Amino acid sequence: MKAYKFRLYPSKKQEQTLFQTFKSCRFVYNQLLEKLNKQTKINRGEIQHSILKLKKEFPELNGVYSKTLQYECYRLFNNLRGLSQLKKNGRKVGKLRFKGRDWFKTINYNQSGFKLRQTGNRFGKLSLSKIGEIDIRCHRVTDGKIKQVTIKKTAGKWYAIMITDEEYKKVGGEGVTGIDLGIINFIADDKGNKVKSPLFLKKSLNKIKKAHQNLSKKKRGSNNRYKAKQRLGVLFERVENQRNDFLHKVSTKLVSENKVICVEKLGIKQMMSKERNRFWNRRNFADVSWGKFVSMLKFKAESAGTKIIEVNPRNTSKKCSNCGELQSMPLSQRTYFCDCGLKLDRDVNSAKNILAQGLGFVENETESSSMKQEAITSTLTSVRS
Ligand SMILES: [Zn+2]
Repeated sequence: MKAYKFRLYPSKKQEQTLFQTFKSCRFVYNQLLEKLNKQTKINRGEIQHSILKLKKEFPELNGVYSKTLQYECYRLFNNLRGLSQLKKNGRKVGKLRFKGRDWFKTINYNQSGFKLRQTGNRFGKLSLSKIGEIDIRCHRVTDGKIKQVTIKKTAGKWYAIMITDEEYKKVGGEGVTGIDLGIINFIADDKGNKVKSPLFLKKSLNKIKKAHQNLSKKKRGSNNRYKAKQRLGVLFERVENQRNDFLHKVSTKLVSENKVICVEKLGIKQMMSKERNRFWNRRNFADVSWGKFVSMLKFKAESAGTKIIEVNPRNTSKKCSNCGELQSMPLSQRTYFCDCGLKLDRDVNSAKNILAQGLGFVENETESSSMKQEAITSTLTSVRS
């Protein structure tokens, strides 16, 4: 199933109602948890039923769509299941905790109580029962039926996450390519196309560093510390969003253009890139992004029918893609010069080697499987005779 995340723009009044709904849902969750803790034998039906009693006792709960309140029972048992799963895996776990203000971040509309209406190319209205019609920015129109809407507030912004019954369907392209992952060029391919590493990350990383220093100066428990923490959270969220957008764009384009993509196997590359890391001092960022990028690529490739081939990155930057000669290539050397006459961007040279190695691997693979087939046939013949 496909999920969409859209920005919401509630009015001041709608925002008040949303806050009240969050408060009510959190209250119900905690009340249900208290009931659960008192039960000697877990009885889900009884807990579910107690929502009705709570509504009588606290009439303000009637301001919340009934299924949204009921969802809290589902959430509680879902958390409980998660906890017992951890226990099964041998982890030492405590009890479920009551949710404080900062730990309650979403409310849910499941199956009903919502309606999405497109009013323009990029805008629409999302009606939520008991809250009203909220302005929404929907940059993509969903084809499928919306099954669930989750409302979330993070870093001062409201979002609606919609889960639809659409399936991922994308068709891969016809190209065959090798790509090199790097720090200056995020990717470079064997045809000489390059995507530069985005600069916004460097800017944001500096801001995060400052926000961190700022936070460490604030007194524990003070209001200023709380504010500094919030600010840091906003920055992290922004970097995360920017990075994900970037990785999605690059991976989608690659899959839509190619039927075979050869890429370096990451674990080995990361170990080998210690020199690079010292040089650039941005280790964590690059590691996380490459890993995320390759998993996005694999995920998208699978539904598109594109093949991803991972190759050993050993010597891919040192080898001449024209004659196979090896030479040392310090990172500062951006162009590969070879006695055979080759003069090529170092990343593009690597990408060519990665492609060649990947395609060689495909050939070997088919060769060995046909050899196996032969072996099986000959065994069968010898058994028969
Ligand atoms: Zn050469």
